[in-house]
Amino acid sequence: MEYVITPPEIVSIAISGQTERFPVRRIYCVGRNYTAHIREMGGDERDPPFYFAKPADAIMPNGSTIDYPPQTSNLHYECELVAAIGKGGSNISEAAALEHVYGYAVGLDMTRRDVQIALREKGRPWDMGKGFDQSAPCGDIRPVDKVGHFPKGNLWLKVNDETKQDSDLELMIWNLQETIANLSGLVELAPGDLIYTGTPEGVGPVVSGDKMHGHIDGLSDLEITVR
Ligand code: MN
Repeated sequence: MEYVITPPEIVSIAISGQTERFPVRRIYCVGRNYTAHIREMGGDERDPPFYFAKPADAIMPNGSTIDYPPQTSNLHYECELVAAIGKGGSNISEAAALEHVYGYAVGLDMTRRDVQIALREKGRPWDMGKGFDQSAPCGDIRPVDKVGHFPKGNLWLKVNDETKQDSDLELMIWNLQETIANLSGLVELAPGDLIYTGTPEGVGPVVSGDKMHGHIDGLSDLEITVR
């Protein structure tokens, strides 16, 4: 195939313990999936799940430095469990949902909170609050055949060694099976898709020079610096 411009590179994520990488197709994010986070943000605790997307090339690997983005003065971290889809499908049942997961990672849904809230108040799309460059740091993936699934487990995030978020995956309002079933009724999932499953309470700002350290029991830690 010949192209009129150089085609973009395939974005990919390292897999713990092997040289083959996980190619990324789409990034879906679940909004408001922990009750205590809905309370801190202000929202309806009984709303069904909803989604937004980030571009695949917003992925940043473990150990990287992200630039403080333009057009914000309130850049927030949101530490989340990321599910990597290995088998696609539409209208996937909850019972079969976890068979579609290749593995898991720790992710950061970086957010221009001031931009997001201004867009939200006007009823406009969140894209420029959520889907900007370098907004999706993601740690190394651990395959399900090595680590199983994560219906529960401690999740924490530290900024400069100070704990900011500390919760448990079992406190998700919509668990991963429910999310995959619901999301695959809206769009066809495909191998390479990532699902950022939402963040617990404790979100807050970072500034240039801060070091973020995200952790979920059983997964590879994610360490990201802001420049
Ligand atoms: Mn989020």
